[in-house]
Amino acid sequence: MFRLLSFPLSASAPVWPGNPPAAQTEANSAIANGDNANTTILHLFSHSGTHLDAPKHFNDAGASAYQLPIDRYIFHSPLVLEVPKPEGGPIHQYELEPYAQQLGAADLAMLRTGWIEKRTSEPKRYPQEGPYLDPEAARYLMTFSKLKGVAIDAVSIGAPYAYPESVATHQALTGVGRDDGHFLLILEDLRIDADLGNARRIYAWPLLIEGSDGSPCTIVAEFPD
Ligand SMILES: [Zn+2]
Repeated sequence: MFRLLSFPLSASAPVWPGNPPAAQTEANSAIANGDNANTTILHLFSHSGTHLDAPKHFNDAGASAYQLPIDRYIFHSPLVLEVPKPEGGPIHQYELEPYAQQLGAADLAMLRTGWIEKRTSEPKRYPQEGPYLDPEAARYLMTFSKLKGVAIDAVSIGAPYAYPESVATHQALTGVGRDDGHFLLILEDLRIDADLGNARRIYAWPLLIEGSDGSPCTIVAEFPD
């Protein structure tokens, strides 16, 4: 059984303040205009809508999504961390520490804040005031060697009102300054349901565009039948 965790890309979905829309379409040919086929030019932004941050986003020496082995996008041991943030604000290390033992075995840490409900109920507030992962907490996640990714049910793992912290968090997660090559993929703006720890696998497929630092992403959970 499969469950979609991504939202459809659209021109009107909430985005980080100032960022272009997730996806805009432009007719290239149209049957309605006498052409034989409908074809469309797609305009995408690498960090709007449900998407993935490749290391290159904040680490200039880091990889683009197309350069990573395909199994980087398949997670076998997802862990849901309940970190409710009904009013936004930082996610601190001490809120993750109760999960230390499980984080040692997980390959995807899914931060379930509940903020995603505001994507539909308060779409203007959703990208402005959401939760973010504190840099110290980001560095803490980097200590778990089996982890391959971190996901959050908010527009970003940072927040516009905490910009320096957001930069530091992204730099830590994308492996800036490390010589061991360790990084976490960052999945943003997706549904994180409470039962995803029961998923057999989670797949996060970016577009493999050469040179891109991130990509809209189709994220699917597979459950045992
Ligand atoms: Zn991003």
